[in-house]
Amino acid sequence: MRRISLLAALCLPLVSQAREVLVEAESFTRHGGWSLDTQFIDIMGSPYLLAHGLGEAVENATTQVTFPEKGEYHVWVRTLNWVEKFSDHVNALAAPGRFQIQVGDTPLDHEFGTEGREWHWEKGGTIRIENLETTLTLRDLTGFEGRCDAILFSTNPDFVPDNSSEVLPTWRREMLGIPAEPIAEGPYDVVFIGGGYAGTCGAIAAARMGLKVALVQNRSVLGGNGSSEVKVWAQGLTPGGLYPTSDIVRQLEDDAKKSPGTDEEFEDEKKLAIVAAEKNISLFLHHHAYEVEKSSETTIGAVLAFDTRTGAIRRFTGHTYCDSTGHGTIGVMAGADYEMFDGVRMGMSNMWSWENTDKEQEFPNVPWALPLDESGFPYPRRFHAEWFWESGFEKHPLDDLEAIRDWNFVANYGAWNALKNKGAYGRNDPAGLEHRNGRLTWMAYIGGPRETLQLLGDVVLSEQDILDKKTFPDGAVLTTWGVDLHYPREQYADKFPDNPFISRAEFGEGVDRRRGYPVPYRCFYSRNIDNLFMAGRNISVTHEALGTVRVMKTGGMMGVVVGKAAAVAAKHKTTPRGVYENHLAELVELLKLPGHYRKADVNSEAVIDPNLPDMGEAVMPWILKKDLSGIVVDDADAKLTGRWSSGAGLKPLVEDGYRLASPVKQGAKDIPTAVYSFQVPEDGRYEVRMNFQGHENRSSKTPVTVSSSDGEKTLHVNQQISPPLQHGFYGLGVYEFQAGEEYSVTITSLGTDGYAHIDAIQVLETK
Ligand SMILES: Cc1cc2nc3c(=O)[nH]c(=O)nc-3n(C[C@H](O)[C@H](O)[C@H](O)COP(=O)(O)OP(=O)(O)OC[C@H]3O[C@@H](n4cnc5c(N)ncnc54)[C@H](O)[C@@H]3O)c2cc1C
Repeated sequence: MRRISLLAALCLPLVSQAREVLVEAESFTRHGGWSLDTQFIDIMGSPYLLAHGLGEAVENATTQVTFPEKGEYHVWVRTLNWVEKFSDHVNALAAPGRFQIQVGDTPLDHEFGTEGREWHWEKGGTIRIENLETTLTLRDLTGFEGRCDAILFSTNPDFVPDNSSEVLPTWRREMLGIPAEPIAEGPYDVVFIGGGYAGTCGAIAAARMGLKVALVQNRSVLGGNGSSEVKVWAQGLTPGGLYPTSDIVRQLEDDAKKSPGTDEEFEDEKKLAIVAAEKNISLFLHHHAYEVEKSSETTIGAVLAFDTRTGAIRRFTGHTYCDSTGHGTIGVMAGADYEMFDGVRMGMSNMWSWENTDKEQEFPNVPWALPLDESGFPYPRRFHAEWFWESGFEKHPLDDLEAIRDWNFVANYGAWNALKNKGAYGRNDPAGLEHRNGRLTWMAYIGGPRETLQLLGDVVLSEQDILDKKTFPDGAVLTTWGVDLHYPREQYADKFPDNPFISRAEFGEGVDRRRGYPVPYRCFYSRNIDNLFMAGRNISVTHEALGTVRVMKTGGMMGVVVGKAAAVAAKHKTTPRGVYENHLAELVELLKLPGHYRKADVNSEAVIDPNLPDMGEAVMPWILKKDLSGIVVDDADAKLTGRWSSGAGLKPLVEDGYRLASPVKQGAKDIPTAVYSFQVPEDGRYEVRMNFQGHENRSSKTPVTVSSSDGEKTLHVNQQISPPLQHGFYGLGVYEFQAGEEYSVTITSLGTDGYAHIDAIQVLETK
């Protein structure tokens, strides 16, 4: 593929007749405000620079170019008018992504990005070169997603560059002087391709088990959708009860308060530092895997990846490989069996955020965006457009990927235009200014995909398996998310029925969120490519089962299982299937090791690494009655009168949720009251506790009455502050109780100054 060329023009026979200089945009020494976009390499052939300025022209990108001789050069730029493919819906002539090329001090007259539905080489006129050493500048004119793949100068007026979408075609490689022979990397014990939660956790687990690991990631950060680039917070629970596979996930996980949250909350640096601390991991950021070599019909011999900034090609060899790309593309290139669901798939999102400022903010009219008014989209409350801004349901999840991302752009900008310039949802503006002071602050240019295809393993887990609670001997990762499938939200779908962009979620039954359903190891390796693992959203499940397993903490735990299985495979020189068939017990022993154990090599004993954090047992947000000592009465078992609403947002909580009652005054009808009745097994003194989580909208003086052998005592509990005892319990005092008698704790919202919050009460014998 590409990067700065020109030297090649002098020494390679292919171009020696004329003087051609090829400059890859991604190889510019300064990208300025342009973003390096590597998402669509497999579709259009290359990384490119994107002017993602939310409507403000981005800072210039510059590089030095050496021309072979003075003279007149014809200029070509590979680009497109990115909205032309939507010309049925928008004014494509308005061409939002316009930019110019400047050579030395001279800008070319031609504005690029104004024509062409597809990527193509666009003629930019001619330029006279007098200085052989010249600065080349990319000048964005709009801030609205202009894009430049490469620039080519030729002295030959008849030269037409090849527009193939092949990755690293020979002509480009030769022009760029990239050696045909890749740099050898390896052999590794295992090569992870894709550094989302799955791949990153997998690489860490493998390294801690003494393996030599390569982690190949085509972006500058780790975490995939869970990075600051996409800003999806990691979900899924990490219950105990099976193996401590969540330790590494919990070490890596973000600190996001909402999704999308701030850059810092996604802790890119932390993730990179955790990986950097693993001496056994060779991390290849900015490397896109684009080709697989086979050593036999059923075996991967090597994976080729190139540096998305320099074009340098690396050839990775390993005992095993793990496809953690999310897209399953390594498996597809290797000839692995796969299935792509042919119904309504879950789509891709480019979330966005806005803020209110203290002065008026302009936003231009955008005739090239979707012509939306407030009937076309939900109000982006709390300053962000969240997960349900999603499209691509019936588009091809690989071939149409760039078009899906771009459709999200025209929808997002169309909605913002409606808020800013058409008065949409003016009444909802928190500042009451009809969004005059509103400013777009962020929009993901990297799309967050959810569903591409499933590589098939020895088990293809289905929703029915989960409903039937089918047990597999190799159950390894507890999935806890409900079966969550997405569909276009009907309310907004009729304007663009061919391409809706707002979704709704439909949750199926069957997953026990508190205990989790164990996904078998056999979903994590290919059934027909002997040395291929997979982890993350491209594992061996049906479309419906993907609805539960696709969340990132679950994917991270799959990575951990794969990392440990790779250790068993490397030790016994066997395949992932061989691990299941012949060494399952040994895999289980490794799965039992907490995340801070380390082996010097696969044959040595695992020992605690004092430099690693002991993550302790995973704390579940749900506390089960059975795990609490003494007598426990949950709100579900209390006698309730009056109006109580249910809640489950504040954690931890006991069993399924808690209840809330609004304040009422003396004399009100139906005073909300909860009576928790209990008996003690033996006469004695017992401590009584109640459970809740503090919140500012709770009452600071909730009346709680304990009836005991001592009589009745009423306390006023401040529920704005979380209780100090374990699991969120609050001590109500020690009381005398006699066996066989009925006692109670009664909680009301009479005279409170906020919600009364009830969950469980606990009665503990005192010694
Ligand atoms: C808007 C949105 C909301 C969501 N909500 C949640 C939520 O609340 N919580 C949750 O946990 N999940 C959520 N999900 C789902 C979740 O984000 C994905 O299912 C999850 O990211 C899959 O993880 P992964 O590791 O398999 O893949 P990814 O996170 O996609 O990571 C794969 C990585 O591989 C890299 N890669 C791909 N191809 C190559 C290649 N050829 N060479 C090198 N590198 C490559 C990619 O750049 C990427 O960084 C949501 C998704 C979206 C889009």
